Amino acid sequence: MRQKLVVGNWKMHGSRGQIQSLVAGLVSGFEKREHTVEIGICPTNIHLEQVGKLLATGKNSIKLGAQNTYFEEKGAFTGEVSALMLADMGVELVIIGHSERRRLFAETDGLIAAKFKAIQANGMMPILCVGESLEERKQGVTNQIVLAQLDSVINAAGIVAFTNATIAYEPIWAIGTGQTATPEQAQEVHCQIRGHLASSDAIIAEGVRIIYGGSVNSSNAGELFSQPDIDGGLVGGASLKAEEFISICKSAD
Ligand code: PEP
Repeated sequence: MRQKLVVGNWKMHGSRGQIQSLVAGLVSGFEKREHTVEIGICPTNIHLEQVGKLLATGKNSIKLGAQNTYFEEKGAFTGEVSALMLADMGVELVIIGHSERRRLFAETDGLIAAKFKAIQANGMMPILCVGESLEERKQGVTNQIVLAQLDSVINAAGIVAFTNATIAYEPIWAIGTGQTATPEQAQEVHCQIRGHLASSDAIIAEGVRIIYGGSVNSSNAGELFSQPDIDGGLVGGASLKAEEFISICKSAD
């Protein structure tokens, strides 16, 4: 039985003041109730320390996550932050391959695979995002696109690396648009991803968590998370409001 996972991706949002009240809301909300779902939040890198300290003040098991990293450990890479540095800050989860990074920052499959390996080498769990554009879906090549993105990491890191990794299926057309994939559309791709992993290793495929991202909110989360191959969610906009995020997490319990 796979434990559900819900991760908030705060993207480039938040002042110290806003973060103080958001995390306080999450900590007190989760203190009041038992939950079986695993929860992570990913602030910007400059807010990691503040969020880590705030999480440590309350009784909660919310994991600290990051939105990106670089694959080199240290050196002349101006503006970058290494996986070693993130681990040193207490980070446990790192998102990589987000479509915004692929599209806006021209990140390639090769670069993403290198980051995946660096994250694991530093004892953290990668959350590998994969997903197709609207044009690709219309052309009927969704599975090819998604599985090729996955294969580039399997080829570089090996299938065994997926014993400590999460895959986030995020159709690009659903991110930040309010146009969520239907539970059936998402389940179909999740099932393809699991089947593809199973062709290399059935046990690893059964254990790996595949979470869905793309306009998840408290109204659609329950139905999405009840699909057999959807193991939780990667939540952008709706993770910036404590009550809404808590309610999404509740749907995964
Ligand atoms: C995301 O940023 O990964 C995401 C899914 O965003 P949103 O929930 O806002 O669509």
